[in-house]
Amino acid sequence: MTLLQLHEPGETPLPHEGEQTAAIGIDLGTTNTVVAIADQGKPEVIRGEKGGALIPSVVAYAPGGRVEVGETARRRLLDAPETVVSSIKRLMGRGARDLKELSGSLPYDLAPDDGGMVRLTVSGKRLSPVEISADILRAAKARAEASLGRAVERAVITVPAYFDDAARTATRDAARLAGLDVLRLVNEPTAAALAYGLDKGVEGLYAVYDLGGGTFDISLLRLEKGVFQVLATGGDAALGGDDFDHAIAERFLEQRRAAGKLAAPASADAKMILMTARLAKECLTEKSDGTWSVELGGAVSRHALDVAALEKLIQPFVARTIAISAGVFDDAAVDPKSIQGVVLVGGSTRVPAVRRAVEQFFGMKPLSNINPDEVVALGAALQAEALTRGSDNLLLDVTPLSLGIETMGGIVEKVIERNTPIPVAKAQEFTTYQDGQAAMAIHVVQGERETVDQCRSLARFELRGIPPMVAGAARVRVTFTVDADGLLTVAAREGSTGVEQRVEVKPSYGLAEDEMARMLRESIEHGRADMERRLLIEARVEAKRSLLALDAALKKDRLLLDAAEYAAIEAEIGRVNAAMSGEDRDAINGAVQALERAVTPFAQRRMDKAFAEALSGRSLDSVAERMEAGAKKKAS
Ligand code: ADP
Ligand code: MG
Repeated sequence: MTLLQLHEPGETPLPHEGEQTAAIGIDLGTTNTVVAIADQGKPEVIRGEKGGALIPSVVAYAPGGRVEVGETARRRLLDAPETVVSSIKRLMGRGARDLKELSGSLPYDLAPDDGGMVRLTVSGKRLSPVEISADILRAAKARAEASLGRAVERAVITVPAYFDDAARTATRDAARLAGLDVLRLVNEPTAAALAYGLDKGVEGLYAVYDLGGGTFDISLLRLEKGVFQVLATGGDAALGGDDFDHAIAERFLEQRRAAGKLAAPASADAKMILMTARLAKECLTEKSDGTWSVELGGAVSRHALDVAALEKLIQPFVARTIAISAGVFDDAAVDPKSIQGVVLVGGSTRVPAVRRAVEQFFGMKPLSNINPDEVVALGAALQAEALTRGSDNLLLDVTPLSLGIETMGGIVEKVIERNTPIPVAKAQEFTTYQDGQAAMAIHVVQGERETVDQCRSLARFELRGIPPMVAGAARVRVTFTVDADGLLTVAAREGSTGVEQRVEVKPSYGLAEDEMARMLRESIEHGRADMERRLLIEARVEAKRSLLALDAALKKDRLLLDAAEYAAIEAEIGRVNAAMSGEDRDAINGAVQALERAVTPFAQRRMDKAFAEALSGRSLDSVAERMEAGAKKKAS
């Protein structure tokens, strides 16, 4: 077999130990951004001058070049909406190709781009989502520095569980632009679970129901040995509190029309009505009714709304979140009522009707004693502290699927097993299969199945420059390193020359949750059959290796065999070949053993011959010496 040695796992040290500046947690939300910091495992939200926790994720670019973020930018929506950008998170990591599909749903102008990244035109400037997000992160950093009175250079930033590689990279780039070193990107639902300390609780399944301003996400997490794994996610990127606002605003406009007041409003007016609607909605979370006034074009109208009317307006949206949740749990084959707990995240889960719907669906009271719009940032802060101080709160992300390399016969040798906490580094030694083999193909795969064709191919490269050696003598050390962000580096190094090749891959790239679930399911379903198949392939590889070695020997020393012996060996070779083309592992192993018995006398004779040659070599030398000596005598 090609596998020679398995080394002990050597875990890399915590990546950011011993540095000085403060590390914060940031929930970079579509609607609101929240900053928090933890001390000794106690997280706290960092508030602004006016005491508010939320920084609206809104940026205003004044024509003079002034940039405003947060509440002041949000107020600009009323007097200069064309200078204001909101909901930029929706565009993170999106390419120009996604433009069409999105443009209808965005509140700003998109500039056509030379390709690649989307850009917006605001106040004459062309801005990428990364730059705009960086402005929000700068404001978050400034708030933290003002409040803490010291520099903040490191942060844990949360991202939706469904964010793909491009969106995660864009988030990282934005942080770098803002002067923040990202310790780790953490999934929002995981951060929320962490804030509730669920990682120290009962092992099992947890749900995170996140209804924000413009997005809905439902996640199913599994907690095992203090490690969370996102098992399934679902949601709607255009469903949230904004829909509630729209429904209320529609109602107000209808009432105005009925009262004979001004009909279709201009777009700036629409923003004003939406802000009033949002105010009404948020008031009705605490109160049972109220009256709000809308002034458009000098015509004022007054609108009464009570909780019952509000609930009727938002009912279809709430029902949709439950339908999506039901779909996710169905797919995951998990009964929603069987989970350990459900966490509420997002400002819109303050709405009592939403809480009731969640409680009914899961058959249990949801966890809600932490502010739902702060909980994600608090979890991120805990993580930031754990990553810098190495507290026992460290959230261990895990490799969702096993990582390995292809060995002879298309078998997968797993180097890092699935669910291994990261960061991690593991090495394994491999060797050559044939005499004089100068290069080795390294094929990195991901998955649980035993054979390469059933796994996901991640990368291929070749290690060249292996010095000529007999099969099995070379030592090639292959090291798999997965860093805290899940980036995999595979390095192969030949021992005697030190030649090295490496490749970097993102194992999660392009891998959807449902595809991952499928791969896991199949590995369980096919586990036994896969193992049988692996053993069969291994038997074939072994047999082939015996045949290759015998072939080389016969080429050299065939004359040591008489015709009958040779025919007998030929017959055994035929039987091995026949068995190899079949599916019976025992038959192959049996045929190889028979062949080995048949060649034993031949092998013995080859050894004797080699021995004799070595001896006769020496005697020839001495013959030559004697002849030389004799010649000298003659000459003298
Ligand atoms: P995101 O995650 O999208 O950034 P948040 O979690 O901050 O958003 O949620 C913002 C949404 O929560 C907005 O639609 C806002 O109106 C709504 N919201 C905030 N507070 C309340 C409240 N007291 N009652 C009802 N809705 C609320
Ligand atoms: Mg959020």
